[in-house]
Amino acid sequence: MIEVKDLHKSYGKSGKINALNGISFNVNDGDIFGVIGPDGAGKSTLFRILASLIMPDSGTAIMNGYDVVKDYRKIRQIIGYMPGRFSLYQDLSVEENLKFFATLFDTTIEENYHLIKDIYQQIEPFKNRRAGALSGGMKQKLALSCALIHKPEILILDEPTTGVDPVSRKEFWDMLARLKEQGIIILVSTAYMDEASRCDRIALIREGELIASNTPQGIIDDYSDILWAVEGSRMSAILRELRKYEKIKTSFAFGDKIHITVDESLQIGELKQYLINRDFRDVGINPIEPTVEDCFIALTN
Ligand code: ADP
Repeated sequence: MIEVKDLHKSYGKSGKINALNGISFNVNDGDIFGVIGPDGAGKSTLFRILASLIMPDSGTAIMNGYDVVKDYRKIRQIIGYMPGRFSLYQDLSVEENLKFFATLFDTTIEENYHLIKDIYQQIEPFKNRRAGALSGGMKQKLALSCALIHKPEILILDEPTTGVDPVSRKEFWDMLARLKEQGIIILVSTAYMDEASRCDRIALIREGELIASNTPQGIIDDYSDILWAVEGSRMSAILRELRKYEKIKTSFAFGDKIHITVDESLQIGELKQYLINRDFRDVGINPIEPTVEDCFIALTN
């Protein structure tokens, strides 16, 4: 398991940029644990510390019994790390990249082929292609194969689906679900709130602070506001009008709808009439279940 306790990390000469401000959480064996937050929340900093690439200013992280600072050599053997950006050698072929990572860890592709088979088979037809010439989705599969080839106990994936098309994103999460079956702990970060539901537990972070940590459903169950979705045409004009209404607590655009939280004294009919009076006649208003993104917004407001 993973035990992260009160991690602090700042950057800059005088430590002006507080990237992590006392982050703590635990990850259970066999879990897919999602670290979810917007750009700049501190996800990469956290994962770099867990991968023993940078040191925290204070706090501890113990992974399967090893301390990320004191036992960094052991940590590097038991983890597979897929950084957010560059991780492949662009001028090496698909197969050469994989061989290289296997050799680094004193193993061979054949020895652990069963672990990557499912993923690698999809890119094997292109094994002689330069990694730099692969599509985003294929690069991601190769990077995951490279991170897995030494049979890690813990997989650390930093925003693996950023910039990847929706179909490849779904395929990627399906692959993670199958890897979980092999007993590998998977730590994965994302800025896409809709990916939360693919995790067993999640930590929501923002500006280096942990806002909540629970199962995705647990986060949703803790939501206490009254939430409605508003739809119609001229949405930005409706949004402006909603923001003037004192019984509406928050309102924000959510895809092609507007999500609002309202005072408990407000009735849907009353709000509809308010909008009709302002010449918005084709408006639909319905109570809805919150998504993790609604919870994130409520928790950070
Ligand atoms: P995320 O991965 O969630 O986008 P990061 O961990 O990359 O967040 O960044 C957290 C904060 O730390 C941001 O304000 C970012 O600008 C800053 N930061 C990250 N890396 C460095 C660095 N090497 N030097 C200075 N500031 C950094």
